[in-house]
Amino acid sequence: MNVQNMPIQSLKGIGPAKSKLFNKLGIRTVEDLFYHYPRGYKDKSIITDIIDLVPEYQYTIKATVNAKPVEVKSRNGLLIVKLTVSDETGKLNITWFNNRFIKNMIEKGDELYFYGKVKLMGRDLIMESPEFEKTSSASSVNLLRIVPEYPLTEGLSHKDIRKAVFTAIEHTEGMLIDIFPEDFRKRYHLAEINFCVNNMHFPETMFNMELAIKRFKFEELFILQSGLIHIKRMNSSEEQGIAFKTYDERAFLNKLPFKLTNAQHKVVDEIFKDMEKTKPMNRLVQGDVGSGKTIVALLGMYKCAKDGYQSLMMVPTEILAEQHYLTFKQLLEGTGIRIELLKGSMSAKEKAAALNRLKNHEADIVIGTHALIQDKVEFAKVGLVITDEQHRFGVRQRTVLSDKGSHPDILVMTATPIPRTLTLILYGDLDVSIIDELPPGRKKIETYFIDSAKKERFYSFVKKELDQGRQAYFVCPLVEESEKLDLNSATKYRDELQNEYFKDYKVGLLHGKMKSEEKNQIMDEMRLGKIHILVATTVIEVGVNIPNATIMAIENADRFGLAQLHQLRGRVGRGEHQSYCILVSDSHSKIANERLKYMTKSENGFDIAEKDLELRGAGEVLGQKQHGLPELKIADILNDTAILKESRDAVEYLYDSGKLEEPEYKRMKKELDARFNRILEEIALN
Ligand code: ADP
Ligand code: MG
Repeated sequence: MNVQNMPIQSLKGIGPAKSKLFNKLGIRTVEDLFYHYPRGYKDKSIITDIIDLVPEYQYTIKATVNAKPVEVKSRNGLLIVKLTVSDETGKLNITWFNNRFIKNMIEKGDELYFYGKVKLMGRDLIMESPEFEKTSSASSVNLLRIVPEYPLTEGLSHKDIRKAVFTAIEHTEGMLIDIFPEDFRKRYHLAEINFCVNNMHFPETMFNMELAIKRFKFEELFILQSGLIHIKRMNSSEEQGIAFKTYDERAFLNKLPFKLTNAQHKVVDEIFKDMEKTKPMNRLVQGDVGSGKTIVALLGMYKCAKDGYQSLMMVPTEILAEQHYLTFKQLLEGTGIRIELLKGSMSAKEKAAALNRLKNHEADIVIGTHALIQDKVEFAKVGLVITDEQHRFGVRQRTVLSDKGSHPDILVMTATPIPRTLTLILYGDLDVSIIDELPPGRKKIETYFIDSAKKERFYSFVKKELDQGRQAYFVCPLVEESEKLDLNSATKYRDELQNEYFKDYKVGLLHGKMKSEEKNQIMDEMRLGKIHILVATTVIEVGVNIPNATIMAIENADRFGLAQLHQLRGRVGRGEHQSYCILVSDSHSKIANERLKYMTKSENGFDIAEKDLELRGAGEVLGQKQHGLPELKIADILNDTAILKESRDAVEYLYDSGKLEEPEYKRMKKELDARFNRILEEIALN
């Protein structure tokens, strides 16, 4: 058996009980143990003379015990153990609290190493609760070296893990087989695996530790990106898709109520080129809120329909489905293209009829929610599938949708402003088009950050806007994680606004738990201007488009992520009128305030996403689950961009050069295959 796969129970000192605790940390094999990286280190390698100690720092000293430890009781009943030790340069007092065992462990005349923090007590230095070990029996696991500290679980201490790792290293010294062959390591300046395992856990020097860390970061990012490239090549392999005919779409373009922006033109060209190839399209369209992604999608669907194929567009909410349906219906008038809306809340009869039309090719374009991917939904001839607001769907749903056809073209649209450095990783399996320009005439949305003391002033400002015929959204405060509580508060909030501040206006309410007809009715009234203020939960976050609404007010704005605030803000500023976003927060958190201030300054989704990443860390922003990505243990996508790029190059080099098929790469290939499968499984689960 490969030493890497040895179960940890076969290590000396690890029985069934310990082994269970290790399992809790996800550690089953020696390899798992090696990849349980330290979360930090303590440098205990240098022995300091007592005379050189400085308060508030931690030191290792080597000293002799002057007299047996003394136990005293403090006034509040605490047991204090006192000890005096000395080396050639001086004397030092040491204390422990509530440790009954010390007395029997230390004798006069013993020579020991102590490691602990030195403090000033009156005019004397003392060392508090140090670790210690006799110099005669000191193993080099816990003292006298750079010592690792690990993520722990209850019942397992740093010492337990150190000992296990140390034993495992002794056991496998020089026997670990590197997945990276020598020439590859040379090319990318990577240290060898035995060296790295050793220096990751018990580094000989800080420099060696850096080498080890770099290698493991590289390895992690390399494997992740290999997985993504693998998926990409799988999707785009020899599969025969549909080569759509070139079609003159100018007549249709001329009928549109506006001229496409240059960015839209560019992206439409890229999409058409892809569609005309036999190879199935796999393209992501990324564009900030309001950049006009919808029309780009429609042009793709138009082309598809003209060539006799059906296209499916999946969106995350019924409101959005309804809205797209209405927009498309209007724009497609007179073209003969038949459009269908499919949603969860249709009556059984309506649904059966709609399903029949899809199956019999009596519909060319189908808009729907998740309802589209249900088993019983069948289509006649699918040529193009689109997911709008991709961040709301997992990778798997995208796949299920495309399985409704036979190698259809795939288009994915997102407004989630993903930092540039991340696009590669998150969407490594897709080609990317970016709409980096807003339609002309958009005014900057003026954004203000206020506390609730200024609310009255803000309400009178809202009234002025309403009196000029404009409309407003008020996003309810998120109260709790609980939807029910949020709901209660939303209702209360609406009533309060209606009855106290806005008696002469109509205040409507929209939340996720409403019946679909109710939602539609509210949205219709809002569209028609019958509702002046719409109080809503974040159901309006994605895609809602009512150009006459000019105010977006967000209560407890600090509870939202920056990207989400940006999405919400994107609901206004869609028409010719000056629009405003009011962020209300009474938070005293410095970071929260910094985030909200940033919103008042920036209107660029990408910058905002990067700021969010900086302030909140990658884990939270990415919502790994959401994107279906496996967790990164050591690499940090934000700070390790150089390694990220290098590993990306390496992956491309390997795949393009065909090297993976050479004998030295056999082990890497096997390992990659195994790990891909794990990644694929993880992705499939999300
Ligand atoms: P998003 O990219 O957020 O999905 P939409 O597609 O909803 O944006 O477009 C936002 C608004 O801009 C819509 O009202 C749409 O009709 C309008 N729009 C899109 N493209 C243009 C354009 N080239 N010129 C003027 N208005 C446009
Ligand atoms: Mg949209």
